[in-house]
Amino acid sequence: MPVRPIITVDGPSGGGKSTAASGVARALGWFHLDTGAMYRAVAWKSLRAGLTPSAARRLGALARQARLTLRLDARRRLRVMLDGRDVTSVIRTAAVSARASEIAVIPAVRRALVAAQRRIGRRGRVVAEGRDTGTVVFPAAAWKFYVTASVPVRARRRWRDLRRAGATLTYAQVLHALRARDRRDTRRADSPLRRAAGAIVVDTSRRTPRQTIQTLLRCLKHHPIALPWRGPGVKVR
Ligand code: C5P
Repeated sequence: MPVRPIITVDGPSGGGKSTAASGVARALGWFHLDTGAMYRAVAWKSLRAGLTPSAARRLGALARQARLTLRLDARRRLRVMLDGRDVTSVIRTAAVSARASEIAVIPAVRRALVAAQRRIGRRGRVVAEGRDTGTVVFPAAAWKFYVTASVPVRARRRWRDLRRAGATLTYAQVLHALRARDRRDTRRADSPLRRAAGAIVVDTSRRTPRQTIQTLLRCLKHHPIALPWRGPGVKVR
């Protein structure tokens, strides 16, 4: 299998993979493919449609029919568009997080979203982020990372993010939801979260976002497969 100009960043919720993936994409001038946002968008739509996670066939159809676009705005921030509507912030609530991991176990939903992700990946120069991007979506990616942190650190980060967004959940509630999501993501039959063969593990528990991004960029620099393209502003020390 020829290697593809794709970087994959997988890992559990709150591990720091979004920060890592978006920072690396920005540094290289590559596209940040946030696959979790796609599951979230479908979950949000299913909540609005009043579908329960047991409605597997209808959820599969909903995922196939969703007009999903990821694009960068003028400040290079990711915007998630669903059926012509900007859903970037509404898909970040605790309810959508939980529902996303519930519908992500449904093979028909995964098939639809993986197909869309591979279409985006065809162009190359993509930093894909999620749970299965290195194992299932882009097994031939040239560079693979598994970004994680300890459970209390991850829960604290999620709690902080949710509170910033105005939620009034306690730390204990967030920890409980995170553990439930970890269980669903790692134990599901279809494409469970696991480290891809050859993926470099980065523990971000004691790293700042900036240090995490620098760590990934350093790994890319010293990787046996050299980066074929250098976008504007690449700084690898
Ligand atoms: O990464 P994020 O927290 O936004 O993902 C939300 C949920 O979507 C995850 O908990 C997981 O269940 C699902 N997901 C997935 N496969 C991916 C990305 C996300 O199953 N590649």
